[in-house]
Amino acid sequence: MSLDHVTHLECTLCGAEYDPNQVIYTCPEHEGVKGILEVTYDYDAIHDDFDASLDGAIPSQWKYEPFLPVSADATRVTLQEGGTELFDAPQLGAELGVKALVKDDGRNPTGCFKDRASSIAVTKARHAGRDIITCASTGNAAASLSGYAARGGLDCRIFVPGDAPEGKLAQPLVYGADVLAVDGSYDEAYDLSVTVTDEYGWYNRNAAINPFQVEGKRTVGHELAEQSVVRGSVPDWVVYSMGDGCTISGAWKGFKEFYDLDYVEEYPRMLGVQAEGAPAIHDAFHEHDDVSDIAETLADSISVGRPRNTIKACRALEESGGDAVLVTDEAILEAEALLGRTEGIFAEPAAAASVAGVRKARETGIIEPDETVVVTSTGFGLKDTKGAQQATGAVDSIDPSLSEVESLYGTSEQAPADD
Ligand SMILES: *Cc1c(COP(=O)(O)O)cnc(C)c1O
Ligand SMILES: [Zn+2]
Repeated sequence: MSLDHVTHLECTLCGAEYDPNQVIYTCPEHEGVKGILEVTYDYDAIHDDFDASLDGAIPSQWKYEPFLPVSADATRVTLQEGGTELFDAPQLGAELGVKALVKDDGRNPTGCFKDRASSIAVTKARHAGRDIITCASTGNAAASLSGYAARGGLDCRIFVPGDAPEGKLAQPLVYGADVLAVDGSYDEAYDLSVTVTDEYGWYNRNAAINPFQVEGKRTVGHELAEQSVVRGSVPDWVVYSMGDGCTISGAWKGFKEFYDLDYVEEYPRMLGVQAEGAPAIHDAFHEHDDVSDIAETLADSISVGRPRNTIKACRALEESGGDAVLVTDEAILEAEALLGRTEGIFAEPAAAASVAGVRKARETGIIEPDETVVVTSTGFGLKDTKGAQQATGAVDSIDPSLSEVESLYGTSEQAPADD
């Protein structure tokens, strides 16, 4: 298999370089899985290959194929991921005191932006002749990988924490995966999946340790850059919630590539949002002495105590001149209801955290009034109806009679119809 446009894999800790055609997850110079690798490219070659016009027509992320770390002769495993809408969100913006846009990545094929990475993972695993693929997941990566494994004809075995929301466990079962609910936290499920990968040689899709996974997430940055070109302006801020920190680093890397290639004239500042109950990347970015490793938040997709990609995430925040904030679970639930009520977009709690982060950043003066802010909805809310009900309260139950409706809204004062 050849990856001519990938120059090497570079360790984010010690700078050692590795051959991208070998399957290497992390740098062997460090204990455990700390030496996360960065994929580096030959951008002259990519630029020569990339002839799509940046006209806003994005049928899927494969529009940017020359940027993706897959061999030219690999068969794509795709469900048309990416190419998601960037909506003007005036009602939401009025509530938050900014000019708001929403990048709705919850409308990817399995309901989550992780499909961008899963498509690459399964394409690469199949091309490498692997027939079993695995990952650990707070829920969405499992659902996503299972769907793409089914599509690509691979067996999928996944590790999830036992308390993942039911909707996220139903999905991989329907896609035919073996779902192993680990009696423990996400961090424990993660460690087990890494051990099992070493032991059995299954292909591991975990975004942090598999250096190619963040690469699929770059396409959301490519899309935001292209959509900025079409709109004629680059947003001041792009906001992401952070769990392991892979997503925000991928999105930043993608946008920055288009900036460096002069496809777009400016770049946004990245705002990373974490829950107060899982603040590790925030703490590292703000150089707290004791980086907390607790993970206690109802936003399950960002309930990560020991993020695998802190270095890349902090790099994205620093390079872009961005910042990191924390939000409470209460604020996350309020934001989920706000986004639904103002713009008709149903986000899961971890996705709504980005909206809560904008409110927090406005209150603390990080985001100025009337700046243009893209909030990214990373996942669809229907996967977690329990979380949603906590955000909205229950339905009103009534008897099937007009008087019940009148007791709620008063008697009708409707004017007689004109003739
Ligand atoms: C995975 C996930 C995140 C966090 O992404 P990281 O790469 O772990 O930082 C945020 N929102 C949703 C909906 C997710 O599924
Ligand atoms: Zn190293």
